[in-house]
Amino acid sequence: MRKCTMCHTKKALSEFWKLSGDRGLRSWCIGCCKLWKAQHKSPSDTPGTLSRFKTATWARINGRTVNGSCPQTRSLSAAAYIRKGVRLEMTKADFFSWCDRNAAAFYELVTRGETPSIDRRESRGHYAVDNLRLLSWRENGRLGGVANGRRLRKPIVATDGPGAIIHRFPSAKEAQRNGFNQGAICNCARGGKHSYKGLFWKFEGNAP
Ligand SMILES: [Zn+2]
Repeated sequence: MRKCTMCHTKKALSEFWKLSGDRGLRSWCIGCCKLWKAQHKSPSDTPGTLSRFKTATWARINGRTVNGSCPQTRSLSAAAYIRKGVRLEMTKADFFSWCDRNAAAFYELVTRGETPSIDRRESRGHYAVDNLRLLSWRENGRLGGVANGRRLRKPIVATDGPGAIIHRFPSAKEAQRNGFNQGAICNCARGGKHSYKGLFWKFEGNAP
């Protein structure tokens, strides 16, 4: 057994790639290496192919689920999912064939110049085939909350360190009209980012 220095999980030696020559094994497990690769492709390496999407997304899901192969607790965005206890409830084969069944929708997004991404229909649900849908990355980032396929406008509040309310907007979109970045606010409110412009952003009514 060997402990991965990235996800801190003890894994069998076969879970680590060999370094070239006779220099032993990598210190990150295969899953962590793949995840890192998937997240650090330059845009020019990323033709919108379905096979690239499957591998990269599968790696990302494994990094953000409590029972995934490499929970990335040091990544703020993945850690937010892990804190919520989001689970991986499908096999790689299940996920890949789900992607194949949605190939038409995938390429439709690509042709429109959008980046396809995975969204969980029920945001309290887990990563399971019947809880997945394809969304453009832009749309996915814009939705602070989605229920039953309908978009919810969630009021948003920004507080300072001591907790005093500095701003309140009827929606993240409205905040954008007032000079803030909607995506950054939603990312904060969903726990991916700690703070934005020195303030703490929450959907009103959500527990802090
Ligand atoms: Zn690892």
